[in-house]
Amino acid sequence: MKRIKLQRQLACWLVVIAMAMAPCAVFADVKPVVGEPIWSWYSIVDQMIEIDAASDDIELFTLEEKYGPECTSEAGLPLYVLKMGSGENIIWIQAQIHGNEKLTTVGFMEFIWQYAEDLAFRAQFEDLTIYAIPVYNPDGSIRGQRGTVVDPSRRIGTLPNGTGSWTNYDLNRDWKANVRGEGYAFGAKESVAYYLLFCDIMPDFMLDLHHQGTKTTNGWPVTMTFGISLYVDGETLPFIKDYRAREMQMQKYVHDQILPDVKGLFGYPNPNIDLYTAIDIYGGLTSAVPLGINYNGLNPYNHSCPAVFYENEQQHNGGIPHANLTERWANVARQNYFGVTSFCKAIVSGEYLSVDPETYWDINYGASSRPAVISAGNRDWNPAIPLDVSNLNGVRAGIKADAVSGIEGDVEYTLEIYGAEDVLALELEFVIDGPLAGIGVEGINGFEPMADIFWTYAGSGAWKGAVTLKYEAGDSTGFSKPTKLADVAKFAFAPTGLGDAAMKLTSFRAVGLEGETTRYLASRIAIPEALTTIEQLVWSKYDLNKDNSVDALDLGIMLLYCGFNSDSPDWDTLVKVNDSRGRPVTASMCDVNSDGVIDMLDLIDLFIHYTK
Ligand SMILES: [Zn+2]
Repeated sequence: MKRIKLQRQLACWLVVIAMAMAPCAVFADVKPVVGEPIWSWYSIVDQMIEIDAASDDIELFTLEEKYGPECTSEAGLPLYVLKMGSGENIIWIQAQIHGNEKLTTVGFMEFIWQYAEDLAFRAQFEDLTIYAIPVYNPDGSIRGQRGTVVDPSRRIGTLPNGTGSWTNYDLNRDWKANVRGEGYAFGAKESVAYYLLFCDIMPDFMLDLHHQGTKTTNGWPVTMTFGISLYVDGETLPFIKDYRAREMQMQKYVHDQILPDVKGLFGYPNPNIDLYTAIDIYGGLTSAVPLGINYNGLNPYNHSCPAVFYENEQQHNGGIPHANLTERWANVARQNYFGVTSFCKAIVSGEYLSVDPETYWDINYGASSRPAVISAGNRDWNPAIPLDVSNLNGVRAGIKADAVSGIEGDVEYTLEIYGAEDVLALELEFVIDGPLAGIGVEGINGFEPMADIFWTYAGSGAWKGAVTLKYEAGDSTGFSKPTKLADVAKFAFAPTGLGDAAMKLTSFRAVGLEGETTRYLASRIAIPEALTTIEQLVWSKYDLNKDNSVDALDLGIMLLYCGFNSDSPDWDTLVKVNDSRGRPVTASMCDVNSDGVIDMLDLIDLFIHYTK
């Protein structure tokens, strides 16, 4: 750890000096050099720190900083992520989940460097937020092995299927919910840490970079291979949304874009890209991500997205630490630069969506990659469809509230939905239990309540409410493309006492377009209840200085604003005094009788509400 800190400090100082000397960021020309050692994890960390320090659009963070002290590698190393850009489409690109597959990172870093240095290149991707993980598995990378080493104190139970051994534990078999009773998964700290990131950022597409070993097709070396982790003609993938089509479209699009460049690198007259062997391993990240697993309740909406992988030529021993980069390896790595660039362009342009998915099979020059029956070795479950994927379809709803309420004003609950497209209306019923008095509901994102909440008494102090929210913005429908999380309504209540107050969704139905693409067969409540604790009642409007009593001090504040009326442009902004918490008291706040002027009537109103 000491070494990392020193390197980090040194890198920071170098950047500071460089920035002081030049008006804009100037990078050293960082390119992989033939004949020198393949970049180690330490070198990648130094490069990421340099990129972060010099680029406004790129932010480096560790999962430990973001999600807590447990979120390191098994050996305690930081897990670094570069957030690049802030566009609407969120993509996840990772390399070296297998620590001995180092050429993946070399090519990926070329993309990251160009993104950092070349503004015109970066401008192409402004619609993207790229979460880049150049080395997913630092422990394996440093050791020059595929897996991580699980700490002995945490080697509990049987080894999960396909993960290898505790001392060379395959992180790309570890993302599986314990749904089938066959050992557990999420056995390594890395898996949980990255899973927290996945649930947090909810990516739209994932790309994973690997080594494939060596193989030939039609007598020519295959230098790159495209893969989809759930067997394309198998039992699971066709049931998952439209991912089968989108993953095939993406792979064929990227193939067509980069084939001339990749052929050029090696001087081959024939195509030298192929399809990967059919596999169905749902513990692999690019399988688990489309399956939308909800490990430990951290992914209640079952967020999922399509995911693909590339494999570049090279036996795993290409990753032995300190091996020197050969010219061929540099070219092999460079394929990933082309592949990553093309993947990002595909998302930005959407052009891949017009590719005929079935032309994906045309990549298969060798006709060896599509077995009629998938072999047991290429599957980590047996024999049935492993997961109920029906819960990935349809729109889902949840309810949320601040942990603590009542300090500043109303108690608020927010209704959010996930996975909705072309919504016409949302019908819901809920129960309110706690010291609350009803105020009302307000629509968000174009939704409006059709009428006031219809209340019935539910017994024991609880009330049941029903309301329909209609999409009212324009004359179309809500959300032209599937939402991730979107707030659709805010419910406000006045607190009438201290203590816990809960809002529970008891029924939820989304109404979509009939006869068109949107079908909400299952409107599901993913997060049924939100609890908030009322720790303080709302301030009295007469308590202008918010010191918990209405007295001469408040009267004194009101006198400062006497004569103001609501025609004044300063009505809501003029601040002559702050309250006891240092927040502004404006003229409009002193209009306690709401008649648009601050005068004797307000003073009398305040005086008769004196609390002492
Ligand atoms: Zn791999």
